[in-house]
Amino acid sequence: MSQVNSLSKSEELINLENNHGAHNYHPLPVVLDKGEGVYVWDVEKKIYFDFLSAYSAVNQGHCHPRIVNALTEQAKKLTLTSRAFYNSQLGEYEKYITNYFGFDKVLPMNTGAEAVETALKLARKWAYEVKGIEHNLAKIIVCEGNFHGRTTTIISFSNDTDARDNFGPYTPGFTRIPYDDLDALREALEDKNIAAMLVEPIQGEAGVYTPNDNYISKAAAMCKEKNVLFMADEVQTGIARTGSLLAVCGNCNCEGHCEKQETYTRPDVLILGKALSGGAYPVSAVLADDAVMNVIQPGQHGSTFGGNPIAAAVAVEALEVVKDEKLAQNARKLGDLFRTEMKRIIGKTDLISRVRGKGLLNAIIINDHPSSTTAWEICVALKDNGLLAKPTHGNIIRFAPPLVITEEQLLACVAIIEKTILEFNKPI
Ligand SMILES: *Cc1c(COP(=O)(O)O)cnc(C)c1O
Repeated sequence: MSQVNSLSKSEELINLENNHGAHNYHPLPVVLDKGEGVYVWDVEKKIYFDFLSAYSAVNQGHCHPRIVNALTEQAKKLTLTSRAFYNSQLGEYEKYITNYFGFDKVLPMNTGAEAVETALKLARKWAYEVKGIEHNLAKIIVCEGNFHGRTTTIISFSNDTDARDNFGPYTPGFTRIPYDDLDALREALEDKNIAAMLVEPIQGEAGVYTPNDNYISKAAAMCKEKNVLFMADEVQTGIARTGSLLAVCGNCNCEGHCEKQETYTRPDVLILGKALSGGAYPVSAVLADDAVMNVIQPGQHGSTFGGNPIAAAVAVEALEVVKDEKLAQNARKLGDLFRTEMKRIIGKTDLISRVRGKGLLNAIIINDHPSSTTAWEICVALKDNGLLAKPTHGNIIRFAPPLVITEEQLLACVAIIEKTILEFNKPI
């Protein structure tokens, strides 16, 4: 018993998760209890800057008062009706989000993976009923290094062995090509059974892999030429994270949606999740025009919770906050500052080889073997110094703070990163 009593509150809670929860994650050893804006507190009341933002779900900052208010007000009134009946929030939300992003229709789901699954089903049905591909032969182009979620179909086309191994048999119907490779895409598009291409405008989980500036626009144009649907998975990159409303907006500087911008690549199918709720609730969405969305008729797809009144109320508020607080502009400005500062630090150390990213979705590449634990150890040291970040594949550390961060806060974070990196003395 004395043994148990000598554990800190954090250790006790970590043990609970280890003993009673499946070991499908390997969290940093920090137990969070409270969040506000860019800050989180652990159970010992130590404060940290959150530089992960729940994988970009918390773009609007932790516990944004307007979003929390929308959630609690709606929770007191009506939480779930299922889609067997209409509800008073859904139509308003559907009108709002389709107008916000400029599509005819939205199909509401809950998690990112479900939205991706929805897009895949939509593409297949469209292939048979509109494009005229022979039954059961439709294929969807995906990219190496992709991350689109964790369902059996989605991991079927992953090339991450952890995500995939021993979960077979795998769903057929996917053609995987190298990312950021237009020649490979051109070749893949020669197959007349291609229905769609599914792609992340920046590969987040792969290590914030940022393609050439013209990759997305060219890929979309090539798909269009072959009557192939271009489907953008913006679950992580969307909703102001990369310094514009969507990553497919390119370098467009406007705050909202604008179809006139020359840099905008309009996907046929847009997949959103994560920050669509500001992290308050699981909300995801698939947006498309009628010519695509109308292939799905009553009874052919759905979700008990998809489009529930809480989700609808929360999503409207979360999107309003993005506009009202000019989060895309802030991400753009502070992202430039952040990369400039990281380059300055890189000039002082051999530990980091480069920084890459867009807006406030960035990563530093650690100058060590992809299989070494250096990135993990640096993240533990960052945590001790008051900043939370997580390694991604291959010794890369992603830096993605909530977009409500101020310049002063960002520079305080840069100081923590600089101190941690320069004091890190593991020989490499
Ligand atoms: C997180 C993510 C998903 C999956 O979202 P979940 O809500 O975890 O199912 C899909 N695509 C991308 C690009 C993501 O980053």
